[in-house]
Amino acid sequence: MENRAIVWFRNDLRIHDNEALTEAINKKVQIIPVYVFDERVFKGKTSYGFDKIQSFRTQFIIESVEDLRKNLRIRGADLLVRMGKPEEIIFELAKTLKTQWVYCNRERTYEEVMVQDALEHKLWTIGQEIRYTRGKMLYYTSDLPFPITQTPESFTAFRKEVEKIIPVRKPVPVPETVPYMEMVDPGIIPDLDYFGKKNIVKNHIENNNFCGGESAGLAQLNYYLNEKQLVKNYFETRNDLFGWEFSSKLSPWLAAGCLSPKKVFEELKKFEINNGENKSTYWLYFELLWRDFFRLMGKKHGNNIFKSGGIKNRKPSPFHKPENGLDWVHANTGEEIIDACILQLKETGYSSNRARQLMASYLVNDLKGDWRMGAEFFESYLIDYDPCSNYGNWNYLAGIGNDSREERCFNPKIQAQKYDPDGKFVSYWTVYKKTSVFATLN
Ligand SMILES: Cc1cc2nc3c(=O)[nH]c(=O)nc-3n(C[C@H](O)[C@H](O)[C@H](O)COP(=O)(O)OP(=O)(O)OC[C@H]3O[C@@H](n4cnc5c(N)ncnc54)[C@H](O)[C@@H]3O)c2cc1C
Repeated sequence: MENRAIVWFRNDLRIHDNEALTEAINKKVQIIPVYVFDERVFKGKTSYGFDKIQSFRTQFIIESVEDLRKNLRIRGADLLVRMGKPEEIIFELAKTLKTQWVYCNRERTYEEVMVQDALEHKLWTIGQEIRYTRGKMLYYTSDLPFPITQTPESFTAFRKEVEKIIPVRKPVPVPETVPYMEMVDPGIIPDLDYFGKKNIVKNHIENNNFCGGESAGLAQLNYYLNEKQLVKNYFETRNDLFGWEFSSKLSPWLAAGCLSPKKVFEELKKFEINNGENKSTYWLYFELLWRDFFRLMGKKHGNNIFKSGGIKNRKPSPFHKPENGLDWVHANTGEEIIDACILQLKETGYSSNRARQLMASYLVNDLKGDWRMGAEFFESYLIDYDPCSNYGNWNYLAGIGNDSREERCFNPKIQAQKYDPDGKFVSYWTVYKKTSVFATLN
């Protein structure tokens, strides 16, 4: 009998630069690609009672799974799609289909690790095992000039030790074919209704171009770099609040793994060779470094990134209470720019980096709310939620993370004058709030 392996897709919904898929193919075995919608995520709640995942990200992942299946079918394979607990479903498939291995790109944060550990232990009972690969970061941890436990706590120190010294490796190539034999029903891809989520309307400038999947992600990368050459001015535009073109908008595709950061880097370098480099092109790489940095902080500090005292292990402040943030959650603080930022996030799933900083600072410093409630709210609504980037940035802004400044406090009125000088952003969302459309959606 031919050897078989499951390739378990998780937050790596792509076929380019996918080490799990590539390693399994190189092993010359039959491949069974699988994606499981984890019911604990798609139907679960956070500790503050938000849906763990709202409609925008759910829809994005559904579209990403559809695109992955399409791309695998083009290569002679398919994608089995199931709903439930991955550790149980993959285990049953491994047993029934008599596979030898399960290949997957390793996750490093608590809930994801629990699932992969549980699966690994089950597989051991039937003489099978997980083969882990990596796929989230720009850099390989084994290439870094320090062990993970010695990763510098300051981003600047980290950046200086890495950039210009460590080369970014090339993405692994896209497989031409994927060896596969149909043995079980591939399964249907669920819709929002199945998860009891409300339907979404992509009718705002911030979200009408977000479509999940590797194909759309590669198209956005090409649009941003080559078609419109927007990256040339990224440094000047990146702090804007309103619109589609001021930043790359690649984060949802990076978070779901539809795009590999090494691929983004490779295309950025090609752009620089053809069009010249400047501070803006460098800055896009700089931001990808932040992403790696927070992932490394997640590895180094483990579950502390989720805890009240954060990576600094501070005593929780008695003045910071969840109830102080209730108006914030309902976009009812009375501070126009903050309410606009919250509304935008709730109604589109997207929020710019500047808006995220303003919301976080206001909750923590002005309202004395609980930063973890804010982080869970973001986890629920963001279309690009990523555990390390989200909780790392919240730690940073709550003064319990990697910021050398104790308080990163933004004055909302000054910020509004600076980043929304003509008031377009605030007025768009203020008008929107008054319409019946918002009343029904909220
Ligand atoms: C409180 C808070 C929570 C956040 N939560 C998340 C999250 O859950 N998921 C997420 O992807 N980003 C998060 N960010 C980072 C950042 O706001 C988004 O990555 C960015 O706004 C996405 O838009 P873009 O793709 O147009 O970014 P661009 O400005 O075009 O940047 C390019 C890429 O660099 C990465 N990047 C940029 N800034 C950061 C940063 N500060 N930290 C980590 N990576 C960065 C992203 O992958 C982004 O796609 C958070 C920031 C804050 C302040």
